Amino acid sequence: MGNKAVSIVDLDVNELIQMLNEALSEEWLAYYQYWIGARMIEGPMRSEIEPELLLHATEELAHAELVVNRIIQLGGTPVLNPDQWKALSKCPYEEPSDPYIEVVLEQNLRGERCAIQRYQDIASYTYGKDHSTYQMATQILNDELEHEHDIQDFLRDIERLKEDIRKFRL
Ligand code: FE
Ligand code: FE
Ligand code: MG
Repeated sequence: MGNKAVSIVDLDVNELIQMLNEALSEEWLAYYQYWIGARMIEGPMRSEIEPELLLHATEELAHAELVVNRIIQLGGTPVLNPDQWKALSKCPYEEPSDPYIEVVLEQNLRGERCAIQRYQDIASYTYGKDHSTYQMATQILNDELEHEHDIQDFLRDIERLKEDIRKFRL
């Protein structure tokens, strides 16, 4: 770590590192939730939704890389054992035990809303005090906003498809 890099940060660095380790754990759980969900889903629009879920998984992994690099820059120790992920994560891992596509999408949507809150909190905590972490948090936040939007769009399209089928049957 660079001493200057840490000394310019005008907040409680240990508290920030704790938040970042929670975020890191959440990203790994989100990665796996998307990655396994993409393989499990069944239902309408699967061929369109599966690649998007896999893309989101990759993007969550990229977030984990950004967060771990920042933890190390700040002189912190990143989570070293996956056993800690669930304990540190504030966003519950939702296993896709029901593979129906709407159920899995709803689970992912709750995860995205939790992630949005996480980066909103990190951005607020670091605003004007740690420009580097703030910039990272807003960059990730933009991705999470886009993820939420994508999933809401899929859910709306499935809803419309179901409405059309109901109309057609009358
Ligand atoms: Fe993420
Ligand atoms: Fe996301
Ligand atoms: Mg997307």
